[in-house]
Amino acid sequence: MTDQTVNYLIIVGPQGAGKGTQAAAVAPELSLEHVATGDLFRTILKSESELGDEVRKYYDQGALVPDELTIRVLFAHIERLQEEKPSLSGVLLDGFPRNAAQAASLDEALAERGESISAVVLIDVPRDELMKRLTGRLVCSSCGATFHREFNAPSKEGICDKCGGELFQRSDDTPEAVEKRLGIYYEQTEPILDHYREQGVLVTIDGNREIDTVAQDILLSLKERVSN
Ligand code: ADP
Ligand code: ADP
Ligand code: ZN
Repeated sequence: MTDQTVNYLIIVGPQGAGKGTQAAAVAPELSLEHVATGDLFRTILKSESELGDEVRKYYDQGALVPDELTIRVLFAHIERLQEEKPSLSGVLLDGFPRNAAQAASLDEALAERGESISAVVLIDVPRDELMKRLTGRLVCSSCGATFHREFNAPSKEGICDKCGGELFQRSDDTPEAVEKRLGIYYEQTEPILDHYREQGVLVTIDGNREIDTVAQDILLSLKERVSN
């Protein structure tokens, strides 16, 4: 463990808002490490371990993995990052926290480290736009990059532009699982935004525009909030 200060930022919004897409675009520009709990779980699922079997019970149904397990997986990953990259300037959390208990755990963990949240970026997209985005989403099996059959099509069908990996449709991007996940978002995740609004760290971005326009807007809003 290092004593260096790490910027903690959060990117939040409903499923399909473009968190993964935007995080991939802005994190390198701000020297942040993109940490997505969903990606951590997908890696665990691939490992075919006992932990993978436990995670799968929730994941495939679009249900949340229990908080205790999620927090353990997330902080183990952040600590590993800090050891591997002593110069790490910050992390951009994507997919965490998703409920009040996780938000409280994060506050507690940061307070213990003498750290706090620099900014929370909310990507705002109307609900009726989200299903179209999610049922057309394609994800790279090697690097995790995200595409869309129509809105952000890869240059070669089925192949990742970034690494040449194979693209697949996520097992939970079915209309049923999407409905369930969106329900959980509006019921459990959206209410925690008040907490960040009160702290004065919430930045709301209109996500219902072209991918590049949204990215520029996020960069502009975050540059002054990230200290390197
Ligand atoms: P999230 O991580 O918030 O669930 P993603 O970044 O995976 O969202 O984006 C969901 C889908 O919508 C992907 O297929 C992505 O290519 C597409 N997408 C992302 N941003 C936009 C946008 N501004 N306009 C149209 N489609 C988008
Ligand atoms: P989405 O936000 O589109 O539902 P993610 O890739 O962020 O997808 O997450 C996929 C799945 O991983 C979730 O449906 C859930 O099972 C699990 N997951 C991810 N983040 C969390 C979290 N913070 N708490 C509990 N479960 C999580
Ligand atoms: Zn790839």
